[in-house]
Formats: sequence, C-alpha cells, structure tokens
Amino acid sequence: MTLPPLPGYPHFAYRNDELFAEEVSVSELAHLHGTPLFVYSRAAMLSALAAYQRGFKGRQAQICYAMKANSSLAVLQVFARAGCGFDIVSGGELERVQAAGGDMRKVIFSGVGKTRAEMRQALAAGIGCFNVESEAELNVLSEVAGTMKLKAPVSIRVNPNVDPKTHPYISTGLKGNKFGVAHEDTLRIYQHAASLEHLRVIGIDCHIGSQITEITPYLDALDRVLDLVAAIEGADIALEHIDFGGGLGINYDSSDTPPEADMLWRQLLAKLDSRGYGGKKLMIEPGRSLVGNAGICVTEVLYVKPGDQKNFCIVDAAMNDLPRPAMYQAFHAIVPVALPGIAENQVETTYDVVGPVCESGDWIGHDRVLDVAAGDLLAVMSAGAYCMSMASNYNTRGRAAELLVDGDKVHVIRVRESAADTFRGEKLLS
Ligand SMILES: *Cc1c(COP(=O)(O)O)cnc(C)c1O
Repeated sequence: MTLPPLPGYPHFAYRNDELFAEEVSVSELAHLHGTPLFVYSRAAMLSALAAYQRGFKGRQAQICYAMKANSSLAVLQVFARAGCGFDIVSGGELERVQAAGGDMRKVIFSGVGKTRAEMRQALAAGIGCFNVESEAELNVLSEVAGTMKLKAPVSIRVNPNVDPKTHPYISTGLKGNKFGVAHEDTLRIYQHAASLEHLRVIGIDCHIGSQITEITPYLDALDRVLDLVAAIEGADIALEHIDFGGGLGINYDSSDTPPEADMLWRQLLAKLDSRGYGGKKLMIEPGRSLVGNAGICVTEVLYVKPGDQKNFCIVDAAMNDLPRPAMYQAFHAIVPVALPGIAENQVETTYDVVGPVCESGDWIGHDRVLDVAAGDLLAVMSAGAYCMSMASNYNTRGRAAELLVDGDKVHVIRVRESAADTFRGEKLLS
C-alpha cells in the first residue's frame, strides 16, 4: 500500500509514504513541537499570491490581503514583504499590521461597525482608505476626521445583490445581508459623502461573499458596480479606484473547482476593458485564496472508539482549533501523516473524527475512511485560513503552536499557549 498523491497541495506531498511540508518531514515537526500543530508553507502563500500578480500584470492594481483569514504576525510579514497591503476589520488588526511592519498607506479598513476610537486610530496611522458601509458611518467618520483636522479617504461598499452561491453565513452581497449600501441608494449616498467637508471620496468597493467557486457571480457583480461607477462619475464625483473585494474559494474537496486567480481576473479585466474602465486603478481583498491551502493542522489520534451506529476517531485537535466544521458544516480533507505501522494490523474503518471538547458540535470530519490507531498522526488539510484566526480557548485549551516552513528551514511563529496564558488577565476576588 502507498499513500495517494495530494492534488491541489503542491507544497505538501508524500515522500516514501511520509507527508512533507516543502522539504521538512511533518512527523518530525510533530515530534519536536507537539500537537495540535499548524504548519504553513511560505512557498504556497507566495505561489497563491503570484497567481493574482500574473493576472494583474501590466495593470495598476493593489492587492490588500484580507488578514482576518490568518492574522499571525509572520504571515503578515510574508505578504508585506511581497508588496501587499492589508484589508483590516478592527483596530486590533491595525495594530497587527503595525507590529508586522506593513505599509499603512496600503491599508483599507472594512466592516459595518467601526467605532469612533477605531476611526481615530486609523486616521492617525494614515491608512489608505476607509470602506464605509452605511450613511450613518459616513457622518461619524466625517465628524471624527474634522476633530483631527483631517480629510478621511473613503470608498463606499455597495451591495450588488448577487448570489455568490456559497454558504449563507459567508454570503455578503445579497439584499438581506448587513453589508454595504443598497444599489438603489448608492448615488444619493455618494452625493452626500462628496458634500461632507472632512471626507475625500476616492473609490467604490464591493465584496459579495467567501468561498466562491464560480466566475458568474463575480461577472454579474462587476457589471452592477460598473453601472454605479458610470452613474457616480456622471454626477461629477471622480473615482480613483474600484475595489472588488475578495472571496475566491479554494479546493477543500475535490468537488470544489474554483477558477485560478489569474483565470478569474482575465475574464474580469476583459469586462472592465470592454466597458471602458480598464485604466482604473484596481484593488482587491483576497483572504482565503492566499493562505487556505498553505496550511495544515497536524493532530494525534488519542483513542479509537467503536460504536453501534458510529465509530469515533478522537483526536487532540478540536473545534477551538478548527472552528469551520462546527460553524459552517465545512469540509476539511483529513489524511494520514505516514503509512500505518504493519505490526498494528489495522483495517480501514469509517469514523467520525472528533475532538475532546464537550459539545456534539465538536467534530472535524464525518464518515471518513481511515486506517488509524491511537498515536497515529493525521493532517487536516486546507487549514491555513479561518482556523487559527478564529481559534478560541474554549474548554481552557491553549491555542496551538504555528510553524512556517521555508524550504528546509522551520520558523516557530507562535508558541503553544499554556493554561496560565489562557487565564492571564483574570483576577481572583480579594
Ligand atoms: C472577509 C473579507 C474578505 C476576504 O474574504 P475571503 O473569502 O477570505 O477572500 C475581503 N473583504 C472583506 C470586506 C471581507 O470581509
């Protein structure tokens, strides 16, 4: 028996039936650093970025990594050094960009609920643009900028009302969503923004959802946004840039077949050109598609528990490390880190792979055919996005360690949290 190849993960591969991250054996990493353990490939991040860079060759474009997908400082450094800006959604994320040495002028600030304090913080830092999501927010931002004797650069997020055909929790561009301003109100709100003394209108933006695997919703959204650009510029409000958001999906499962970033952009740029907007500066905010397939979570099998209706494979990673299955019934491939030992005489069995947390929602994979025994290592694939950045300390579980592999070099980019770390900041009664 040999282990099958891992299509879709060029930087993670079996060599002599052992999983490698670039040039490094994953089981060696697990033995040295313990489990659960996130292992990222720097080359995988840069090759995902390169697909966008190829797509934008010869164009004026700024890629702003949507850092909520994975906001670990060293990950931000990788993208900052490659010339990326950042799409942030909180003052905390702004501080992370500063700590990682990112360029503030390339930062855009998205989100429906920016506080006055966050606006002040971002204005003082000199960020590139606020992506404003409501008329009320425009008024508050103008007022805050006024108290600082500044003009805030703004773009307004429009809701193009297209169905991105993804999970409802990660659809954001439909009428019933909390995001952006309605298509029919857009021109009026732009006119209002242009009339506010302490705002400088510079762009327009949209973001229709996440884990999008089809091109059509993007093309539809672009058409609707360009209709608005025409109306806004027709009212003598010049727009320097069009920000088209993020949302491109990855192949969690072999049935997910998202387009490559350069393929997607070839079609979008053709539409921009045909409608006469090919010369406009473009901004994009990809998150998942830059980091999702660049990371795995290595976990050890603690127990196998046969049952009447289900067999359980109990592992040491849980919903606090890998929240996506519990939150969105999301799928992650789960693969062995090495061939099972012959002496153990194991057989393939169908398991629910579950963690130790006391919730039935704590599952990582349902009905997986595995050949495992206690002590074996498994790799949960596509764990680079929306895993560590959503991790919690539920059940007083410290967050996992993170490693960044670069060729044969291994960087510890986050040390494992101890229990004491998890209650630092708490106080006993006196
Ligand atoms: C989350 C988010 C993104 C990134 O989405 P991905 O699906 O990770 O690419 C981009 N823009 C905004 C406004 C977001 O909220």
